[in-house]
Amino acid sequence: MTELENFCRDSPQMAKRLAAELVRMADVHSDASVDDIELSLVFPIYNEEESIPELYRRVTEVIGQSNVRSAEIIFVNDGSRDRSEELVRELRTTDARVKLVNFSRNFGHQAAITAGIDHSRGAATILMDADLQDPPHVIGEMLEKWRAGGEIVYAVRKRRDDDTFAKRLFAKTFYRVLQYISSIDIPLDTGDFCLLDRKVVTHLKALPEKNRFLRGLRSWVGFRQVAVEFERPARFAGDAKYTFRQSVRLAINGIVGFSSFPLRLASFAGFLAFFAALALLVVAFWAWFIDYHLERGWTSIVVIVLFVGGVQLILLGSIGEYIGRIYDEAKQRPNYIVREFLD
Ligand code: UDP
Ligand code: MG
Repeated sequence: MTELENFCRDSPQMAKRLAAELVRMADVHSDASVDDIELSLVFPIYNEEESIPELYRRVTEVIGQSNVRSAEIIFVNDGSRDRSEELVRELRTTDARVKLVNFSRNFGHQAAITAGIDHSRGAATILMDADLQDPPHVIGEMLEKWRAGGEIVYAVRKRRDDDTFAKRLFAKTFYRVLQYISSIDIPLDTGDFCLLDRKVVTHLKALPEKNRFLRGLRSWVGFRQVAVEFERPARFAGDAKYTFRQSVRLAINGIVGFSSFPLRLASFAGFLAFFAALALLVVAFWAWFIDYHLERGWTSIVVIVLFVGGVQLILLGSIGEYIGRIYDEAKQRPNYIVREFLD
């Protein structure tokens, strides 16, 4: 250390140049390690053995056509119980671009894409479902928009094909309600299928929230956002891995994470009940004044009690949702646990 200090004292000019050179080298080096991968593709996998081979075939074909300098294909195995892991391992023996993040158990789709984002190193990262419902041919268009300056390119569904009527209705209503009550502008009919520039990935990685609703966070971070449209085909094989319960959870996460409207409902309901009570009081007084005999019915009482009780329970539940989230965040548990990462 003293030698270095002596050197710096004796030839400050030289020391300055050396320091600048070191910084430049470090920059070039870190740039190189990120930059040598242009595109990261992230696939959450939960029991997708039937789709993986076809998915791999189509995706590599598209990568070949869209003159990507270099790519990595990250499969996040979300605790699959079928041969998914084995298939990905097999792909790795012939293709060094294939990477595998193995979870210690099933943590859910949002956790899987979060892990994919965390492990990606490309200048651009694309998140897509593994069941080919997010068609690989859209990748080319996304890359074009990204090269033209888009920092987030998100895909908008024109149709939800194989989904049941109930699911379509649920999704449509959900997106519209969320749009109406949330504090940020989440585009209608978008899923998690999107391209994220490195800059965006860095910021998403830094967000510590546990109850993730990625499409909301993606809007929230800002940046130049561009849409591409696509028709959503039916699932290539197998059944939907999202259960109805998971969908409802995700919807609640979206609403609670991006809006305090349910909490404000309490005040609305309170005012409503207050004014209704005032009006009733006026009516009662007036009846007494003109000597009109009001029926002493229990019906009205029961209705009021039920109504107010119901409103209170609903609002208590909504407050519970928020408190539950606060508790989750306070526990500071990670979103997922990686058993192994095969780079
Ligand atoms: N998925 C996952 N973990 C889960 C459920 C689903 O990683 O617990 C993956 C699944 O393998 C697929 C994607 O998330 O790649 C979307 O799942 P799915 O097709 O069931 O959703 P949907 O198309 O019905 O929205
Ligand atoms: Mg699907």
